[in-house]
Amino acid sequence: MRRLRAWFDTNRRDLPWRREPRDPYHVLVAEVMLQQTQVWRVEPVFERFVAQFPTLEALARAPQAAVIIAWQGLGYNRRAVNLLRCATLIVERYGGFMPDDPQTLRTLPGIGDYTASAVCAFAFGKDIAVVDVNVHRVLSRVWVPQATEADLLPRQQVQALARSLLPRGGGRWWNEALMDLGSLLCRRRQPRCTDCPLRVRCASAGTMAPPPQQRRTEPTYRGIPRRLWRGRLIAILRQQSPRLVADCADALFATPTAGDQRWLHALLRQLARDGLVVVTGETVALPGTEFAVGTYRQ
Ligand code: SF4
Repeated sequence: MRRLRAWFDTNRRDLPWRREPRDPYHVLVAEVMLQQTQVWRVEPVFERFVAQFPTLEALARAPQAAVIIAWQGLGYNRRAVNLLRCATLIVERYGGFMPDDPQTLRTLPGIGDYTASAVCAFAFGKDIAVVDVNVHRVLSRVWVPQATEADLLPRQQVQALARSLLPRGGGRWWNEALMDLGSLLCRRRQPRCTDCPLRVRCASAGTMAPPPQQRRTEPTYRGIPRRLWRGRLIAILRQQSPRLVADCADALFATPTAGDQRWLHALLRQLARDGLVVVTGETVALPGTEFAVGTYRQ
Protein backbone atom coordinates (compact mmCIF):
# COMPACT_ATOMS: atom_id res chain seq x y z
CA MET A 1 0.00 0.00 0.00
CA ARG A 2 2.86 2.40 0.81
CA ARG A 3 4.44 1.80 -2.58
CA LEU A 4 1.17 2.45 -4.36
CA ARG A 5 0.59 5.65 -2.37
CA ALA A 6 4.10 6.95 -3.12
CA TRP A 7 3.68 6.20 -6.82
CA PHE A 8 0.25 7.87 -6.87
CA ASP A 9 1.52 11.00 -5.12
CA THR A 10 3.92 11.69 -7.99
CA ASN A 11 2.10 10.15 -10.96
CA ARG A 12 -1.60 10.86 -10.42
CA ARG A 13 -3.53 12.09 -13.43
CA ASP A 14 -4.52 15.75 -13.21
CA LEU A 15 -8.12 15.41 -14.37
CA PRO A 16 -10.45 18.44 -14.32
CA TRP A 17 -13.19 16.68 -12.34
CA ARG A 18 -10.67 15.83 -9.59
CA ARG A 19 -9.82 19.44 -8.77
CA GLU A 20 -10.28 20.43 -5.14
CA PRO A 21 -12.63 21.24 -3.62
CA ARG A 22 -14.53 18.45 -5.33
CA ASP A 23 -17.75 19.53 -6.96
CA PRO A 24 -20.31 16.67 -6.84
CA TYR A 25 -21.94 18.02 -10.00
CA HIS A 26 -18.61 17.88 -11.87
CA VAL A 27 -18.03 14.34 -10.63
CA LEU A 28 -21.50 13.27 -11.80
CA VAL A 29 -21.02 14.80 -15.27
CA ALA A 30 -17.59 13.18 -15.61
CA GLU A 31 -18.75 9.75 -14.47
CA VAL A 32 -21.66 9.75 -16.92
CA MET A 33 -19.35 10.88 -19.74
CA LEU A 34 -16.81 8.20 -18.81
CA GLN A 35 -19.36 5.37 -18.88
CA GLN A 36 -18.45 4.34 -22.43
CA THR A 37 -15.77 6.82 -23.43
CA GLN A 38 -12.04 7.09 -22.80
CA VAL A 39 -10.62 9.82 -20.55
CA TRP A 40 -8.74 11.63 -23.33
CA ARG A 41 -11.97 12.08 -25.28
CA VAL A 42 -13.97 13.14 -22.24
CA GLU A 43 -11.59 15.85 -20.97
CA PRO A 44 -12.18 18.58 -23.62
CA VAL A 45 -15.92 17.93 -23.83
CA PHE A 46 -16.20 18.00 -20.03
CA GLU A 47 -14.49 21.42 -19.87
CA ARG A 48 -16.83 22.84 -22.51
CA PHE A 49 -19.90 21.24 -20.94
CA VAL A 50 -19.40 22.57 -17.42
CA ALA A 51 -18.50 26.00 -18.83
CA GLN A 52 -21.84 26.03 -20.66
CA PHE A 53 -23.82 24.44 -17.80
CA PRO A 54 -21.85 25.46 -14.67
CA THR A 55 -24.29 24.09 -12.08
CA LEU A 56 -26.82 21.33 -11.68
CA GLU A 57 -29.58 23.95 -11.78
CA ALA A 58 -28.24 25.44 -15.02
CA LEU A 59 -28.21 21.99 -16.60
CA ALA A 60 -31.73 21.23 -15.34
CA ARG A 61 -33.01 24.41 -17.05
CA ALA A 62 -31.28 23.68 -20.37
CA PRO A 63 -33.21 22.66 -23.52
CA GLN A 64 -32.62 19.02 -24.43
CA ALA A 65 -31.28 19.92 -27.87
CA ALA A 66 -28.64 22.19 -26.31
CA VAL A 67 -27.45 19.37 -24.05
CA ILE A 68 -27.23 16.91 -26.95
CA ILE A 69 -25.28 19.49 -28.98
CA ALA A 70 -22.91 20.06 -26.03
CA TRP A 71 -22.35 16.29 -25.91
CA GLN A 72 -20.68 16.43 -29.33
CA GLY A 73 -17.53 14.32 -29.49
CA LEU A 74 -18.63 11.65 -27.02
CA GLY A 75 -21.19 9.52 -28.86
CA TYR A 76 -23.81 7.41 -27.08
CA ASN A 77 -25.98 10.52 -26.91
CA ARG A 78 -28.63 8.79 -24.83
CA ARG A 79 -26.38 9.51 -21.85
CA ALA A 80 -26.88 13.26 -22.41
CA VAL A 81 -30.65 12.85 -22.24
CA ASN A 82 -30.38 10.79 -19.06
CA LEU A 83 -27.99 13.29 -17.47
CA LEU A 84 -30.45 16.11 -18.15
CA ARG A 85 -33.31 14.07 -16.62
CA CYS A 86 -31.08 13.26 -13.69
CA ALA A 87 -30.28 16.94 -13.06
CA THR A 88 -33.98 17.84 -13.30
CA LEU A 89 -34.95 15.18 -10.76
CA ILE A 90 -32.20 16.18 -8.32
CA VAL A 91 -33.44 19.76 -8.44
CA GLU A 92 -37.10 18.73 -8.08
CA ARG A 93 -36.71 16.03 -5.43
CA TYR A 94 -33.63 17.11 -3.47
CA GLY A 95 -33.56 20.88 -3.89
CA GLY A 96 -30.46 20.70 -6.10
CA PHE A 97 -28.38 18.80 -3.53
CA MET A 98 -26.84 15.64 -4.90
CA PRO A 99 -27.77 12.55 -2.85
CA ASP A 100 -24.66 11.06 -1.22
CA ASP A 101 -25.74 7.42 -0.89
CA PRO A 102 -25.61 4.80 -3.67
CA GLN A 103 -29.16 3.52 -3.10
CA THR A 104 -30.72 6.91 -3.79
CA LEU A 105 -28.40 7.68 -6.69
CA ARG A 106 -29.32 4.40 -8.36
CA THR A 107 -32.95 5.53 -8.61
CA LEU A 108 -31.94 8.35 -10.99
CA PRO A 109 -31.91 7.98 -14.79
CA GLY A 110 -28.68 6.64 -16.30
CA ILE A 111 -27.10 5.91 -12.90
CA GLY A 112 -26.19 2.27 -12.41
CA ASP A 113 -24.29 0.53 -9.62
CA TYR A 114 -20.89 1.64 -10.87
CA THR A 115 -21.72 5.33 -11.38
CA ALA A 116 -23.51 5.53 -8.02
CA SER A 117 -20.46 4.08 -6.25
CA ALA A 118 -18.05 6.33 -8.15
CA VAL A 119 -20.00 9.50 -7.32
CA CYS A 120 -20.14 8.57 -3.63
CA ALA A 121 -16.42 7.75 -3.48
CA PHE A 122 -15.06 10.62 -5.57
CA ALA A 123 -17.53 13.40 -4.75
CA PHE A 124 -18.19 12.62 -1.09
CA GLY A 125 -15.09 10.64 -0.06
CA LYS A 126 -17.06 7.55 0.98
CA ASP A 127 -15.14 4.32 1.53
CA ILE A 128 -16.73 2.44 -1.34
CA ALA A 129 -14.79 0.15 -3.70
CA VAL A 130 -15.11 1.41 -7.27
CA VAL A 131 -14.23 -1.28 -9.79
CA ASP A 132 -13.87 0.09 -13.30
CA VAL A 133 -12.09 -1.74 -16.14
CA ASN A 134 -8.69 -0.52 -14.91
CA VAL A 135 -9.20 -1.64 -11.31
CA HIS A 136 -10.64 -4.95 -12.51
CA ARG A 137 -7.54 -5.56 -14.61
CA VAL A 138 -5.01 -4.54 -11.94
CA LEU A 139 -6.53 -6.61 -9.14
CA SER A 140 -7.01 -9.65 -11.41
CA ARG A 141 -3.35 -9.61 -12.37
CA VAL A 142 -1.92 -8.82 -8.95
CA TRP A 143 -3.85 -11.52 -7.09
CA VAL A 144 -3.86 -14.46 -9.51
CA PRO A 145 -1.34 -15.33 -12.26
CA GLN A 146 -3.09 -14.56 -15.56
CA ALA A 147 -2.06 -16.59 -18.61
CA THR A 148 -2.69 -13.84 -21.17
CA GLU A 149 -3.23 -10.09 -21.13
CA ALA A 150 -6.91 -10.68 -21.91
CA ASP A 151 -7.61 -12.90 -18.89
CA LEU A 152 -9.46 -11.47 -15.89
CA LEU A 153 -10.97 -12.74 -12.66
CA PRO A 154 -14.80 -12.85 -12.49
CA ARG A 155 -16.27 -9.44 -11.68
CA GLN A 156 -17.89 -10.58 -8.41
CA GLN A 157 -14.59 -11.97 -7.16
CA VAL A 158 -12.82 -8.69 -7.94
CA GLN A 159 -15.61 -6.69 -6.29
CA ALA A 160 -15.20 -8.73 -3.11
CA LEU A 161 -11.42 -8.39 -3.28
CA ALA A 162 -11.65 -4.61 -3.79
CA ARG A 163 -13.97 -4.26 -0.79
CA SER A 164 -11.63 -6.27 1.43
CA LEU A 165 -8.57 -4.21 0.44
CA LEU A 166 -10.11 -0.76 0.76
CA PRO A 167 -8.18 1.21 3.42
CA ARG A 168 -10.46 2.78 6.00
CA GLY A 169 -10.66 6.53 5.43
CA GLY A 170 -8.62 6.25 2.22
CA GLY A 171 -11.18 5.02 -0.26
CA ARG A 172 -10.85 7.98 -2.58
CA TRP A 173 -7.08 7.88 -3.13
CA TRP A 174 -7.03 4.07 -3.20
CA ASN A 175 -9.63 3.86 -5.97
CA GLU A 176 -8.01 6.66 -7.94
CA ALA A 177 -4.52 5.16 -7.53
CA LEU A 178 -5.62 1.76 -8.87
CA MET A 179 -7.41 3.45 -11.77
CA ASP A 180 -4.35 5.54 -12.65
CA LEU A 181 -2.04 2.55 -12.34
CA GLY A 182 -4.30 0.57 -14.67
CA SER A 183 -4.42 3.43 -17.16
CA LEU A 184 -0.73 4.40 -17.12
CA LEU A 185 1.17 1.16 -16.38
CA CYS A 186 -1.01 -1.94 -16.11
CA ARG A 187 -2.47 -1.36 -19.55
CA ARG A 188 -4.68 -3.79 -21.43
CA ARG A 189 -1.84 -4.57 -23.83
CA GLN A 190 1.87 -4.60 -23.02
CA PRO A 191 1.79 -3.58 -19.34
CA ARG A 192 4.89 -1.73 -18.11
CA CYS A 193 5.71 -4.15 -15.29
CA THR A 194 9.31 -2.96 -14.87
CA ASP A 195 8.04 0.53 -13.87
CA CYS A 196 5.22 -0.74 -11.65
CA PRO A 197 5.24 -0.16 -7.86
CA LEU A 198 3.30 -3.44 -7.38
CA ARG A 199 5.66 -5.71 -9.34
CA VAL A 200 7.20 -7.41 -6.27
CA ARG A 201 3.69 -8.39 -5.08
CA CYS A 202 2.14 -9.07 -8.48
CA ALA A 203 1.37 -12.66 -9.48
CA SER A 204 1.37 -11.80 -13.20
CA ALA A 205 4.36 -9.44 -13.41
CA GLY A 206 6.20 -9.97 -16.69
CA THR A 207 4.61 -13.37 -17.39
CA MET A 208 1.48 -12.78 -19.46
CA ALA A 209 1.26 -13.77 -23.12
CA PRO A 210 -0.40 -11.46 -25.70
CA PRO A 211 -4.16 -12.08 -26.08
CA PRO A 212 -5.62 -14.29 -28.80
CA GLN A 213 -7.21 -12.47 -31.77
CA GLN A 214 -10.96 -11.82 -31.35
CA ARG A 215 -13.70 -11.13 -33.88
CA ARG A 216 -16.06 -8.20 -33.27
CA THR A 217 -19.80 -8.94 -33.20
CA GLU A 218 -21.12 -5.36 -33.13
CA PRO A 219 -24.10 -4.74 -35.50
CA THR A 220 -22.99 -3.04 -38.70
CA TYR A 221 -24.45 -1.59 -41.89
CA ARG A 222 -22.31 -1.30 -45.01
CA GLY A 223 -19.45 -2.54 -42.84
CA ILE A 224 -19.72 0.39 -40.38
CA PRO A 225 -20.80 -0.14 -36.73
CA ARG A 226 -24.34 1.05 -35.98
CA ARG A 227 -23.14 3.25 -33.14
CA LEU A 228 -21.04 5.24 -35.65
CA TRP A 229 -24.08 5.69 -37.91
CA ARG A 230 -26.01 6.97 -34.90
CA GLY A 231 -23.22 9.42 -34.12
CA ARG A 232 -23.06 10.63 -37.74
CA LEU A 233 -26.77 11.27 -37.85
CA ILE A 234 -26.73 13.26 -34.62
CA ALA A 235 -23.74 15.24 -35.95
CA ILE A 236 -25.76 16.13 -39.08
CA LEU A 237 -28.63 17.33 -36.88
CA ARG A 238 -26.29 19.36 -34.70
CA GLN A 239 -25.48 21.39 -37.83
CA GLN A 240 -29.13 21.92 -38.71
CA SER A 241 -32.27 20.80 -36.89
CA PRO A 242 -34.96 20.09 -37.95
CA ARG A 243 -34.20 18.79 -41.44
CA LEU A 244 -35.76 16.44 -43.96
CA VAL A 245 -35.09 12.73 -43.54
CA ALA A 246 -34.22 12.70 -47.26
CA ASP A 247 -31.52 15.35 -46.62
CA CYS A 248 -30.08 13.18 -43.88
CA ALA A 249 -30.03 10.21 -46.24
CA ASP A 250 -28.17 12.29 -48.86
CA ALA A 251 -25.67 13.47 -46.25
CA LEU A 252 -25.06 9.93 -45.01
CA PHE A 253 -24.98 8.00 -48.28
CA ALA A 254 -24.47 10.54 -51.13
CA THR A 255 -26.74 8.45 -53.44
CA PRO A 256 -29.00 6.47 -51.07
CA THR A 257 -30.70 3.31 -52.32
CA ALA A 258 -34.16 2.10 -51.29
CA GLY A 259 -32.43 -0.25 -48.85
CA ASP A 260 -30.51 2.68 -47.35
CA GLN A 261 -33.78 4.61 -46.89
CA ARG A 262 -35.44 1.66 -45.11
CA TRP A 263 -32.42 1.19 -42.91
CA LEU A 264 -32.29 4.92 -42.06
CA HIS A 265 -35.96 4.92 -41.03
CA ALA A 266 -35.33 1.93 -38.74
CA LEU A 267 -32.36 3.78 -37.24
CA LEU A 268 -34.52 6.87 -36.70
CA ARG A 269 -37.18 4.82 -34.91
CA GLN A 270 -34.48 3.48 -32.61
CA LEU A 271 -33.07 6.97 -31.93
CA ALA A 272 -36.60 8.26 -31.28
CA ARG A 273 -37.22 5.47 -28.76
CA ASP A 274 -33.99 6.51 -27.02
CA GLY A 275 -35.27 10.11 -26.85
CA LEU A 276 -32.49 11.47 -29.06
CA VAL A 277 -34.56 12.64 -32.02
CA VAL A 278 -38.15 13.48 -32.84
CA VAL A 279 -39.43 12.37 -36.24
CA THR A 280 -42.44 14.23 -37.63
CA GLY A 281 -43.63 12.92 -40.98
CA GLU A 282 -40.60 13.31 -43.24
CA THR A 283 -38.76 15.64 -40.88
CA VAL A 284 -36.33 14.76 -38.11
CA ALA A 285 -35.15 17.04 -35.30
CA LEU A 286 -33.21 17.08 -32.08
CA PRO A 287 -35.71 17.16 -29.18
CA GLY A 288 -36.92 20.67 -28.48
CA THR A 289 -36.27 21.89 -32.03
CA GLU A 290 -39.15 20.07 -33.70
CA PHE A 291 -42.13 22.15 -34.74
CA ALA A 292 -44.99 19.75 -35.55
CA VAL A 293 -46.92 16.85 -34.05
CA GLY A 294 -47.10 13.18 -35.04
CA THR A 295 -43.89 11.30 -34.41
CA TYR A 296 -42.26 7.88 -34.46
CA ARG A 297 -42.04 7.90 -30.67
CA GLN A 298 -43.08 4.49 -29.35
S1 SF4 B 1 3.44 -5.72 -12.27
FE1 SF4 B 1 2.65 -5.62 -14.35
S2 SF4 B 1 0.83 -6.92 -14.35
FE2 SF4 B 1 1.35 -6.51 -12.20
S3 SF4 B 1 0.11 -4.74 -11.65
FE3 SF4 B 1 2.08 -3.97 -12.31
S4 SF4 B 1 1.86 -3.54 -14.51
FE4 SF4 B 1 0.14 -4.85 -13.88
